[in-house]
Amino acid sequence: MHVKQFELKDEQATINLGAQLANLCSQQTTIYLHGDLGAGKTTFSRGFVRALGHEGNVKSPTYTLVEPYQLANWQVYHFDLYRLADPEELEFMGIRDYFTADAVCLVEWPEKGAGFLPEPDLDIDIRYQGEARIAQLTANNPYGIELLSKLELS
Ligand code: ADP
Ligand code: MG
Repeated sequence: MHVKQFELKDEQATINLGAQLANLCSQQTTIYLHGDLGAGKTTFSRGFVRALGHEGNVKSPTYTLVEPYQLANWQVYHFDLYRLADPEELEFMGIRDYFTADAVCLVEWPEKGAGFLPEPDLDIDIRYQGEARIAQLTANNPYGIELLSKLELS
């Protein structure tokens, strides 16, 4: 199955989705996070990096564009490209060096980097539904499909 949809009834549900996906990663992984401001992209990312052992704060790297987390098994790079004026800037920041064999990359606002980012294994779209959210996950390759097939949210 290439697409799965989950209702995220509150912030904790979004954190749980991030945590579960983090624990399923078994190789280099790239996840694009789509959704309006306040949809929950950073909340998802917080659940993700905390599940891999990060204990501190997780804020969107709005001004620095990327926040690295060196964790036990993975190097996680959390991007927020909202303020990227020109996708070519990604070349200057050496974007290719981030997508290495032991890296998991979470990318908020990937649209802003179009043409300069690797294709994602998973696209996650988070939409508002009243106070809750709907997350739609789309797998783009066999590894993405494997991740989706193992996800089970209650
Ligand atoms: P984004 O990174 O997409 O701009 P954030 O994760 O920073 O969004 O913010 C999401 C905000 O929405 C937080 O204030 C959070 O408490 C609130 N919220 C309410 N319901 C949810 C939900 N189901 N999932 C995620 N965040 C939620
Ligand atoms: Mg954010």
